[in-house]
Amino acid sequence: MNATVIDTAAIIAVGSELLTPYRADTNSVFLTARLNELAIEVRGKLIVGDDRKRLARGLERSLDDADLVVLTGGLGPTDDDVTRDVLAQVLGMPLVEQREIVEVIQKRFSARGLGMPRINRRQALVPRGAELIPNARGTAPGLWVEWRKQVVVALPGPPRELKPMVDGPVRERLAPLTSGSHLARRVVAVAGSTESHVEERVQPVYARWRQRAQVVKATILAGPGQVELHLSTRVSSMPEAEAALDLAVEELVAVLGCDVYTTVGLPLERVVGDRLRALSWRVALAESCTGGLVASRLTDIPGSSTYFDLGVVTYANAAKTDFLNVPTSLIEVHGAVSEPVALAMASGVAIRAAAEIGVGVTGTAGPTGGTDAKPVGTVCVAVTGAAGERVRTFTFSGDRDVVKRQASQAALDMLRRMLDAHG
Ligand code: AMP
Ligand code: MG
Repeated sequence: MNATVIDTAAIIAVGSELLTPYRADTNSVFLTARLNELAIEVRGKLIVGDDRKRLARGLERSLDDADLVVLTGGLGPTDDDVTRDVLAQVLGMPLVEQREIVEVIQKRFSARGLGMPRINRRQALVPRGAELIPNARGTAPGLWVEWRKQVVVALPGPPRELKPMVDGPVRERLAPLTSGSHLARRVVAVAGSTESHVEERVQPVYARWRQRAQVVKATILAGPGQVELHLSTRVSSMPEAEAALDLAVEELVAVLGCDVYTTVGLPLERVVGDRLRALSWRVALAESCTGGLVASRLTDIPGSSTYFDLGVVTYANAAKTDFLNVPTSLIEVHGAVSEPVALAMASGVAIRAAAEIGVGVTGTAGPTGGTDAKPVGTVCVAVTGAAGERVRTFTFSGDRDVVKRQASQAALDMLRRMLDAHG
């Protein structure tokens, strides 16, 4: 082969089961991660059923689109395994039986005291000119085909067979064909702002990036209570890539300010924990509608016992008054979902635990229980203690679990901001 450098790839996942709700295509996610490590950018992915015509069309299109095409699945011995045949047909390489493969398969069967079924002979058919990629965990070897100036790789579907093949022989063959450049990534995570607001603020920064020789690409990903900006760049040296991304991150932080909670991929609960530890402060939580989710997230972090003191779920009004000393009159006058009650919960639990910081969360997660004044999704969060006092009312939308997740995010984020402001 007179190969061009492999910069781009297309992935085709073959298997009718992948078009049902019962099986997800995870191979392409794994492959994308590994290809990116070699600075190969994935241009497209396709999932096709066990269907010769559609696979042939998909393969042709992928060959138009990328330097490398990786197919997974459909290399088995049964009639619905069509990858090998389609490959031979589209690339114009006739199938020939390879004796060695028949022997290897025969051995695998005889090791289990079985004879080889005739249908397994199909797995020994190889497009003429293709190289075999050994499969230590199954009967179907992979195929490596250099075709014109491109490469086509076919791998078996089962992830436990495919993964070691990718990490071993496939990587070994691909590495010398890549440009040797590096694809570096960075994630800037934001809380307390919506996707569109973030996008609006970063647009001028993106415009500046487009003028530069060193292109940084960005995509935006929104989740409950957070927005992530994923940055990537591709250059010939890793220090150069890191420098370009450092600058890009700095420019984003300059416009997004303290809404950014991490630029190094830490979860919000970890960021909060690190701040508490740095201040040698402990926190106590009184939760209602989040049902302990804030406590659960904070204690997901190893070592949280140094700063996490007490977490209670005071769901009933009586629990709020009995355990946290929230005055009954406060609930009667303002309602259980109110800022004064959130504040009383926060200070009540901080006093109980003798902690520097108390957090109170009260709200209606739905789907019922809303009123005109306090619709479903109304959540009051209070943070009180050594750094002062803050309380806010949020109106979240979404299902019960999404409201809970957003409320926990808001509580952790308010805590983070208060700790940041303090020191
Ligand atoms: P095959 O190589 O087509 O015989 O695939 C065998 C099995 O591998 C399938 O039944 C799936 O369980 C699994 N599999 C195939 N393709 C994928 C994929 N893209 N992602 C995850 N699992 C897969
Ligand atoms: Mg299959």
